[in-house]
Amino acid sequence: MKQRRAFLKDSLLGGIAFIAASCGWTSTSAEKSQEESNLKGNKPIVISTWNHGEIANKVSWQILEKGGTALDAVEQGVRLVESDPTGSSVGIGGLPDRDGIVTLDASIMNHKNECGAVAFLQNIEHPITVARKVMEETPHVFLAGEGAYKFALEQGLKDTNLLTEESKKAWEKWLEEAKYKPIINIENHDTIGSLALDQHGNLAGACTTSGLAYKMHGRVGDSPIIGAGLFVDNEVGAACATGLGEAIIRIAGSNIVVEMMRNGMSPQKACEAACQRVIEKHQNVSGLQVAFIALNKKGQYGSCSIHPGFNLAIHTPKQNGIETAKHQFI
Ligand code: ASP
Repeated sequence: MKQRRAFLKDSLLGGIAFIAASCGWTSTSAEKSQEESNLKGNKPIVISTWNHGEIANKVSWQILEKGGTALDAVEQGVRLVESDPTGSSVGIGGLPDRDGIVTLDASIMNHKNECGAVAFLQNIEHPITVARKVMEETPHVFLAGEGAYKFALEQGLKDTNLLTEESKKAWEKWLEEAKYKPIINIENHDTIGSLALDQHGNLAGACTTSGLAYKMHGRVGDSPIIGAGLFVDNEVGAACATGLGEAIIRIAGSNIVVEMMRNGMSPQKACEAACQRVIEKHQNVSGLQVAFIALNKKGQYGSCSIHPGFNLAIHTPKQNGIETAKHQFI
């Protein structure tokens, strides 16, 4: 994690120098492979945010290649990341809020426009599974806090301590200065968002996070909000977001990406347009990172972030690996 964060810092500084000269969308070496892969489309396909997307995709792929559903694929993939105690932004090991309490947000959506979400959930390892249970076992879409926790126990999930020794130490260190900035640091966001298209041609998406490190107790980000952190429309495509949740919520980010695709944009152009919208709606994005990934019905994908440093994992029948997203910094 530290290495990745250092990389983000370095790439941001490098990016500023480069873009000062070019001031526009910045191409990456991955662009060509994305274009080639997108030419014919892909089925099945799974794409997921950040480096940890690669281990999520591995599990998802095992389901997709056997003809399993996109919904099972994304849920099972992100569960693996939720269980990884070394990841400081999702599930166990997620950094706590300013009071030292780990609170989790998650959402899931299937090809029938059915969705489920949980927010401010504590002591449950797999918020994504609780979100799925909300979708499948209740007449509701969204449960929060104590109610979500009780529902999770009723559904057979176990009470689990999510604060690891390492995340507790990190919080205690943070307490020494306790500088609270309600603005995201470029380095402190790595929600896992995962989108899949299965062999039956159905789309699904999942998104799970511990949110911003040292956030105010009770703060909820974009990830559990359908249309902000995640949106799926099986006629068109799917999108999910990572980065400063407040900025993503303000523009209903994932919904915008899907609507742009509905109006004819490629997933890549739609992600760029949503980043552009965030930039237009904020006076100063110098410390504000937001990123989107998107997938359409043909299995074409795209990604974009405001600042450099965002990457995603892609698994198709022909391709398996990590790509750096395009970015724009103004
Ligand atoms: N979007 C998340 C939030 O604001 C943070 C992240 O992407 O890691 O809660």
